[in-house]
Amino acid sequence: MRRNNLGVLLRHLSAHGEQSRTQLAAAIGLPKATVSVLIADLIERGLVQEGELNHAGAVGRPHRMVDLDDHRFCGVGAEIGVDHITVVAMNLRGRIVHEGRRALDVPALTPQATLHEAGTLVADCLAAVGERGTEAIGITVVTQGSIEPLAGTVAAATNFGWRDVEVAGALQRQLGPGSPPVTVENDAECGAVAEYVAARSEGERELLYITGGIGVGAASISGGKLLRGSEIGHMRFDRFDRPCACGRTGCWELAVGLQAFLDLAADRTDDVHDRSADLERRLGKLVDRAAAADARTRAALAAIAGDLALGLSVLVDVLNPTRIVLGGYFALFGEYLIEDVRQHLESRRISPTAPRVEVVASTLGLSSAARGGAHLSLEKVFDDPAIAALREAGG
Ligand SMILES: [Zn+2]
Repeated sequence: MRRNNLGVLLRHLSAHGEQSRTQLAAAIGLPKATVSVLIADLIERGLVQEGELNHAGAVGRPHRMVDLDDHRFCGVGAEIGVDHITVVAMNLRGRIVHEGRRALDVPALTPQATLHEAGTLVADCLAAVGERGTEAIGITVVTQGSIEPLAGTVAAATNFGWRDVEVAGALQRQLGPGSPPVTVENDAECGAVAEYVAARSEGERELLYITGGIGVGAASISGGKLLRGSEIGHMRFDRFDRPCACGRTGCWELAVGLQAFLDLAADRTDDVHDRSADLERRLGKLVDRAAAADARTRAALAAIAGDLALGLSVLVDVLNPTRIVLGGYFALFGEYLIEDVRQHLESRRISPTAPRVEVVASTLGLSSAARGGAHLSLEKVFDDPAIAALREAGG
């Protein structure tokens, strides 16, 4: 009961920012005396800190506001992408307090070599925040593919060439005894979490995140809860009746994945197909062509938008999101895709009274999946604040 109330207080502060004890008591329906005791506990655990004296609008004595402690703890997210590793540390208030990034050709390396690089970058991050007196609560490794969260393994990540790779255990051994617990999560799911956290202040509860790369990943958040385990890129449509890398035919990502877009936008001899060149630069060329109203690029985007909307309309019927966030390469071309997608979805709406879906492009950029991972690391302490030990007197 008490642990539960500690968590309720932390989540309320996370959602609403700085509050007085009186405001907290009114918001969560506990006596102010009880709230004061719980806040004292959270302060001792380094999860909450007192702020400035507030004189404004108060009757009687001024009172101190309380807020999440922005210093004592952080969560770490480490994203392994096809060509990079990104590590971020995020404080309880959701701000990034450390970021590290390294370019890496993951498919060309063994999984062990890639994980060793990731472990080095994470160790650098832990050392950097540790010097400032900040401790990591947990580390979430974010990868593509299908994850076995309980085993801490990647069952299959086609674009990495990984199959049954032990991730959490390997990293835990490299970081050594006493290091924060390591978990593994899927990149689309972490991207969805990051978008949800960014949209939460606007009251967003039903969000569908879709990310376009070589694969197409998606995850949705409903009522504040992450829905896992979708292989959305491999939804079948008769009209895309071609063989897919997954062994089946007609998969959605054959029509809207990055390779489909590149094939539509340029001949195979074009630089944008050159896999030895940086993907961001190749896509940057196509962004420039789209901006210059190049007919072939614009036609490719129109085709992608139509097929994107075809799959999204199915997902909208099943999941009823109020907002769709386009991530990955879709976000780079948001201004050419969104209006088309919106019109397609509108024309396929089940009834005129069905709620409209907002379609937006992600603005979180390259570190969004790592941010989502760091946020999931922090969830452990929101679920059970008692995992943060009480500090010794004077400590
Ligand atoms: Zn497939």
